[in-house]
Amino acid sequence: MEEAPQCKHIIMFPYMAQGHLTRFLELAYRIVHHDPSFTVTIVNTPLNINNLRSAIANRPSPPSQIRFKSLPFNSSDHGLPPNSENTDGLSPSKLPLLIQACASFEAPFRQFISEVVSSEGSPLVCIITDGVMRWASDVAKSFGVFSYLFIAGAYGSTAAISIFRNLPHLNMTDGGTHDEFAVPGFPESCWFTYKDLTPRVRALDGKNEMSKLIKRGGSSSPEYNGVLCNTVEEIEKFGLEVLRSYFKLPVWCVGPLIPLKLLIKNPGSDTSSGITSQRSGKKLCIEPKYCVEWLDSHPTRSVLYISFGSENAISETQMVELAKGLEESKKPFIWVIRPPSGFDPKGDFQPEWLPYGFVDRVKKQGLVVYGWAPQLEILCHQSTGAFLSHCGWNSVLESLSQGVPLIGWPLGAEQGYNVKMLMEEMGVCVVLARWADSRITKEEVSRVINMVLDNSKSGKGDVMRKKANEIKELMRAGVEINKGSSYNALNNFLTRCFSI
Ligand code: UDP
Repeated sequence: MEEAPQCKHIIMFPYMAQGHLTRFLELAYRIVHHDPSFTVTIVNTPLNINNLRSAIANRPSPPSQIRFKSLPFNSSDHGLPPNSENTDGLSPSKLPLLIQACASFEAPFRQFISEVVSSEGSPLVCIITDGVMRWASDVAKSFGVFSYLFIAGAYGSTAAISIFRNLPHLNMTDGGTHDEFAVPGFPESCWFTYKDLTPRVRALDGKNEMSKLIKRGGSSSPEYNGVLCNTVEEIEKFGLEVLRSYFKLPVWCVGPLIPLKLLIKNPGSDTSSGITSQRSGKKLCIEPKYCVEWLDSHPTRSVLYISFGSENAISETQMVELAKGLEESKKPFIWVIRPPSGFDPKGDFQPEWLPYGFVDRVKKQGLVVYGWAPQLEILCHQSTGAFLSHCGWNSVLESLSQGVPLIGWPLGAEQGYNVKMLMEEMGVCVVLARWADSRITKEEVSRVINMVLDNSKSGKGDVMRKKANEIKELMRAGVEINKGSSYNALNNFLTRCFSI
């Protein structure tokens, strides 16, 4: 009698943020689609697991190889508001608490891995986490299991990790200087400046909570067996050189982890998230059909899409100036509005956040969406000509995969480094502002919008669009079945992940 094939089991534990959860889910889909003999278990809090379950339940034939495991989590035990199990609706001041709370998963996660290993054996189990669940690599090691770090873009992630880990040596707590500085891992010719750093990083004084958290985390380097990167080898050559020399580990570029249907015509038996993947746990505030119909009524590449992602907000003053600049630009737009910084992120819309009468006046010019919009549908539409974005890595990939150039307004995390790379390396972005504390003017808003949406030949907008289109083609080539670099990298990873 033939022996039943042994189950190859990948266990994933993402940080509790929309961008992380949905990207791990996409990676899980890509894996089981690539090799159906793999099982993937995604571990998280009960609320996040429910959201992920309902996200895949709505898709055609959800693969049975993707499983879920909830670990108990009581947000009040960690000083967080009740039922806060992810960054949605959490004010930025509470983020350090959520990050700190992640350490509480170590014991139940260890117990879970112990159960899996004793029933399945360690040789066919491996763990993938992100940088927040740093302790997961110790858990893996103690059971003789391999562990892998999953990161966003190569350039932005390496800059963020290196700056965090080396912060004390960079003497950046001296907020008075705007000098350029070199970042360990990056060649000396690639300078960073103070403006690339988030206000939160600039505020690190070695004493406040966030500094302490980073210092604790930075003092030990987790021992991973390799790095999975959500990018494409051909689009981030320099970033990958830096990443490889910094980590000195095998790196597999398996991106862009966005639904294959958006990238190639015949994704085969791919039952992946489809175009509606981003909705796990999020209520859409506008019907995708309505957005598409609205976009249909506009000329090709004429509409500006504006969104600052799932966690960040701009200030009230900035919001007013942005609205005035939009109106002055006269360009059609879709703007996803969230409460400005300092307001309850879950609160209702308040008309005072916008100039008096704005929503009525721009009824013909634009769509104002409060809360959550179908971003992928919008970016995929041929009428969308530019994206004013905080440049979170998922938004960057989604935009460039459709050849849409960006207007950057970084607001946190590694977004400032993403913008630096998008401008200096790729030439697909111009920066409008940085962080929620910068001063913007309606004149500058209108000037930048007009420049990027200008379709005249060889103008700045045209050049950016051409470069964005080149990147789109490289991304599409990367995921081509049997041929693309990302396809081959995933194949190579899945062949080696238990035995590297
Ligand atoms: N997103 C969306 N609708 C919105 C805002 C965001 O679908 O109104 C999705 C977007 O498509 C992306 C994710 O949320 O996949 C945001 O991830 P990103 O890395 O860009 O930013 P983060 O929210 O992590 O800062």
